[in-house]
Amino acid sequence: MAKISLEHIRHAYGPTPKSEKDYALKEVHHEWNDGGAYALLGPSGCGKTTLLNIISGLLRPSEGRILFDGLDVTNLSTQRRNIAQVFQFPVIYDTMTVYDNLAFPLRNRHVPEAEVDSRVREILEMIDLVDWAKRTARGLTADQKQKISLGRGLVRNDVNAILFDEPLTVIDPHMKWILRSQLKRLHKQFGFTMVYVTHDQTEALTFADKVVVMYEGEIVQIGTPVELFERPSHTFVGYFIGSPGMNLLPAKVAGNSVTVGGQTITLAAAPNVGSANKVELGIRPEFVRLGREGMPVDIVKVEDIGRQKIVRARFEGHSVTIVVPEDSEIPAEARVTFEPTRINMYADSWRVGTEG
Ligand code: ATP
Repeated sequence: MAKISLEHIRHAYGPTPKSEKDYALKEVHHEWNDGGAYALLGPSGCGKTTLLNIISGLLRPSEGRILFDGLDVTNLSTQRRNIAQVFQFPVIYDTMTVYDNLAFPLRNRHVPEAEVDSRVREILEMIDLVDWAKRTARGLTADQKQKISLGRGLVRNDVNAILFDEPLTVIDPHMKWILRSQLKRLHKQFGFTMVYVTHDQTEALTFADKVVVMYEGEIVQIGTPVELFERPSHTFVGYFIGSPGMNLLPAKVAGNSVTVGGQTITLAAAPNVGSANKVELGIRPEFVRLGREGMPVDIVKVEDIGRQKIVRARFEGHSVTIVVPEDSEIPAEARVTFEPTRINMYADSWRVGTEG
């Protein structure tokens, strides 16, 4: 397995990019650890597949270099990069048996047949297709075919990295959950470098050690699921991660005091917002306290989603979302307070660098 270094990668699909807007990837400069499980997460069109294809060699970047363990692979074909790939839709041989489909990548590399057999059997167990081993792949459901694709990606243990592009899209929800946890277990056991594209935050947060959040062709934050939840470094990350996303409210800052909606809150330390005075205050719906103290709000809607209630309210002309336990009482004259330790501050034009 290999460390993947992305050096000043930029990519434009058109021949003559005229402005930054023409770049599908603007500036990706990062090093991903050997054996790390990285999820590329972001909305449709943010550049996830473009970046994955650049790592796999399906696409040559307009600018920049890719290195595997320090070796420049930018001009190497996909095959010579020695990676395994699993795509959104199954890529398998319909006329071969399930067993032979899984054995193919190993036999292709002249792995001894005894080892082929033990690896294939392990994978058959994992994807729950032991009883189907001797059947041809033709006639299997899309779900079963995709499990074979996934198995083929995992069967070799000598690859530099395994790249996944939304591989669980066609799998039914229950099996999705099982495969996700098995993938996580296999990753722990074999320590392969894994890059996994998804637009589903649950998928990204449950299995990746590091989630790479992308927005408009850039990486806006790389962090553990907890870091992304508790300390989003960018307003987009706060908004995108979490369900519902983080509240963002205009505020004023002076030293370690923040004024929002006529109420001044004292923070433990002055926020890192440069010289900005007008800032955005970010607070997750889970950390807004609803009661009879604090700033008055107008309740607009209460949605009961089982174990919790999601309360939509208006506050000084802004929307604020609050999550409370299912049995909470919603006071008629509701007020809110924000837990000072859970507040994140953002300067309007402030764009933070990413952390590895
Ligand atoms: P999705 O989740 O929808 O797959 P994504 O995050 O993977 O989206 P990309 O497919 O990498 O995003 O696309 C990034 C940008 O590049 C988008 O604006 C897209 O329209 C553009 N793009 C992607 N492929 C091509 C192509 N072959 N030719 C021209 N533009 C492209």
